[in-house]
Amino acid sequence: MRRAFQRNQALFIAWFLLGGVLLIPILTACSSSKASSPALSTSGNPTLTEVFRQALSEATHSIPTATLTPTPSPTATLTATFTVTPIRTPQALPSPFTTGLLNPLDTPHTYIRDTCQYLKDRWSPDKSPPGTVVMPIMFHSITDGEVSHPYQITHARVSQLLRDLQQQGFEAISMEQLAGFLQHNQKIPFRSVLLIVDDLHSEAYYRDHFEAFLRENHWVLTNAWISEPEASQRVLSENQKLQNEGWVDHQAHGVIHNININEFKPGAMIDTPLYGNITAEQFTRNELEGSMRRITEVFGKAPIAYIWPGGNFSKLGVQIAREVGYQLGFTVNPRGPLMYNWIPLADSEDPARPSFRPEGYVQDPLMVLPRYWDQDASSHIDTVRQISKQAADAALQTQAIELEYYDLVCRSKYGPVEEPVSPTPTP
Ligand SMILES: [Zn+2]
Repeated sequence: MRRAFQRNQALFIAWFLLGGVLLIPILTACSSSKASSPALSTSGNPTLTEVFRQALSEATHSIPTATLTPTPSPTATLTATFTVTPIRTPQALPSPFTTGLLNPLDTPHTYIRDTCQYLKDRWSPDKSPPGTVVMPIMFHSITDGEVSHPYQITHARVSQLLRDLQQQGFEAISMEQLAGFLQHNQKIPFRSVLLIVDDLHSEAYYRDHFEAFLRENHWVLTNAWISEPEASQRVLSENQKLQNEGWVDHQAHGVIHNININEFKPGAMIDTPLYGNITAEQFTRNELEGSMRRITEVFGKAPIAYIWPGGNFSKLGVQIAREVGYQLGFTVNPRGPLMYNWIPLADSEDPARPSFRPEGYVQDPLMVLPRYWDQDASSHIDTVRQISKQAADAALQTQAIELEYYDLVCRSKYGPVEEPVSPTPTP
């Protein structure tokens, strides 16, 4: 009886204390006080302690509180949505195509910064297939007689070169086509040639050496036009006539021309009758701007390319050329053919070819494009064809990896590549 009373009394006390435990947080919740009651100590009575523990346990398991059963927050839901394990991960893209058919010091330089745009333009069906190649060739001085200095070539050899090109499947393109091809891989003939005649020439020169063949084959010719104010009105009007006939296209080749843009020493001055005594930097700007302005005036269209006089150039010159609006530039270094996002250039001097200035340091491959020389271009045609074929074969090997990369990384932003173009295998 006494024990029962004691037990009931203990239970009562436990419930009383429990009421206090539950009540205190409710009361204190409204205040900033964190005080708790010191009267809750139960350590003096083991029986009471055990009963209290049990009661408290039941109480805390039966009374829902915010702390014990958290409501899922929006953050938790979002996290769950975005932590999807990827099923496919893209392989690293293969390194650009290389070939043993170039001089070991002449290495392919790429220039398209946006990888996704590059892959889209490389594989879209309306673009040029991989392996499409351009051979730029320059002509300096064609003579009807015997060759009397190193820059000259006979009329007969020029005719032979044009026939060789045609028989090996090449077609001539314009500077505008080349710019579209190099920048966006726009469609051009699989084997293309860009014929550039340097300096001022009379109407008769073009008619004698090129007209019959070009008209028959619907080819165009590019002229590197010197915008010197002294050029006779006769030469100018003859060239305007050729342009209007649609088969000679004039691009920029300086104003003074005979003083080449170069890596001038700091503080260098240049004195010419046309410009007076000016800094080398101002001279560089005058040459590039003057060519652009004058050609626009006399031929009614802005030039796309700057053909560096003497094949010389400078890093500053390249930067100014970009500011002025040129899209392409040419040296006289015959390093190899051009392909989309693939320009053979050198990063260091070559003792075996001391006259070839390295171009890589200007960090703008499109402004320092190589050109073949007319005298030995025929002997390079087969090499150009082989490089084209190797590039097409290499593209076949890497096509699946490149297209999977595009699909995983680029497609959502750049759109699909429908029925990718197939590299054209060449015989
Ligand atoms: Zn020249």
